[in-house]
Amino acid sequence: MTALRIERDVLLAPYTTLQLGGPAEYFARIEGRPQLLEALGWARARSLPVCVLGGGSNVVVSDAGVRGLVLIIAMRGVCFAPPVADRPGEQLLEAHAGEVWDAVVERCVRAGLSGIECLSGIPGTVGAAPIQNIGAYGQELAECLQAVEVLDLTDLTTRWLAHAECELSYRFSRWKRQPGRELVLAVRLALQRGATPNVRYAELQAAVGSTAPDVAQVRDAVLGLRRGKSMLLDAADPNSRSVGSFFMNPVLSAEAALRVLQTSLAQGVIADESALPRYPQPDGRVKLSAAWLIERSGTHKGERRGPVGVSSRHSLALVHHAGGTSAALLALAAELQARVRATFGVELEREPVLLGFD
Ligand SMILES: Cc1cc2nc3c(=O)[nH]c(=O)nc-3n(C[C@H](O)[C@H](O)[C@H](O)COP(=O)(O)OP(=O)(O)OC[C@H]3O[C@@H](n4cnc5c(N)ncnc54)[C@H](O)[C@@H]3O)c2cc1C
Repeated sequence: MTALRIERDVLLAPYTTLQLGGPAEYFARIEGRPQLLEALGWARARSLPVCVLGGGSNVVVSDAGVRGLVLIIAMRGVCFAPPVADRPGEQLLEAHAGEVWDAVVERCVRAGLSGIECLSGIPGTVGAAPIQNIGAYGQELAECLQAVEVLDLTDLTTRWLAHAECELSYRFSRWKRQPGRELVLAVRLALQRGATPNVRYAELQAAVGSTAPDVAQVRDAVLGLRRGKSMLLDAADPNSRSVGSFFMNPVLSAEAALRVLQTSLAQGVIADESALPRYPQPDGRVKLSAAWLIERSGTHKGERRGPVGVSSRHSLALVHHAGGTSAALLALAAELQARVRATFGVELEREPVLLGFD
């Protein structure tokens, strides 16, 4: 491990998938725990705020930059636990925060382990995965996340949090409730050996084309679907200069969802009830499709506002083409939100985290 190196005024844009954002006042790359503690001590001695970045694939960084110390978490390490006698099909895996998420998925799929195959191709690091409980194609991290090791930034103690303590739900966790309080050091996943992958999502079922696929087939199908929507990082694909979905799917009370239905019918946006996509949730609420609401409120794929725009392949992804600013991107986001609010009375919530906007 190299010695801790704290740099000044480092431009953050290259550390984000949007390629946007001003400088970090101070910046360090962290490859191990002693380095991490040294950096935190350094910031504390100067009363500087600390913020962490993984792959920068779910952040919008202010054009003015970020005050204090920005840490790139690059602590690596993956280890498979020995089998437990009374749980023969289970394989526990521990991965450190700076591991690339998709490299871990690929390794597990190659080992024939199921549980995270539908999360193939999601950019970013292992440490950020629990922050918004990453999910795709009918699977969520919450389904296999057994525990998370955290460093409490207030008193620098470490501990393992059990699944229930992580407060995971749709794009939510304890770390969303208390941002900046804890740093994720490692995660423990409980995967299944030799089990048939659970393909619940209709679009994925059709792409897999087999009733009993193996994990590798599911991964290939997911990667194919994601590539078609520019939801894989690819330097050659300008549509992938994004944070993936910019908005969450709204989850409304049954009454609020009914109001959206009535408004849509009254405004002639839909001709009959079945035209509004609605996904009933176990708690009685109803999830709506943010992409559908955006498109039906007058936004079209490929729409541009100079250097920023809506992906030509996915109406939920806002794209930075080149030479833009975070301010321009957020203005476009606000425009889409206003259209959805005016048409349906629904408030779309942003998915990425804003850094440096205080
Ligand atoms: C093309 C594309 C497709 C995407 N598709 C999906 C998708 O299908 N499903 C999905 O859920 N997401 C998706 N995303 C969003 C993103 O990839 C995930 O949210 C990912 O987990 C973010 O990881 P990161 O390392 O890049 O986090 P960053 O963007 O670096 O950070 C995100 C947040 O997590 C915090 N954080 C990062 N590391 C740590 C740590 N070790 N401890 C504590 N806090 C930390 C940061 O402070 C920040 O608040 C997509 C993004 C892109 C660009």
